[in-house]
Amino acid sequence: MLGLRYVACDDCGTVAATPATPTACERCGSTALTDLTDRFREPTYFADVD
Ligand SMILES: [Zn+2]
Repeated sequence: MLGLRYVACDDCGTVAATPATPTACERCGSTALTDLTDRFREPTYFADVD
């Protein structure tokens, strides 16, 4: 994943992919951020469920 980190804003739901972990949401400025990076790395996250 080229070292990108995936961070979701708990307030507005924006997901950002950035090289460095942000301290605040780019859209609303909230600092209530959840790091999704580990979840994206889970192979089953992208698995198709038919
Ligand atoms: Zn936000």
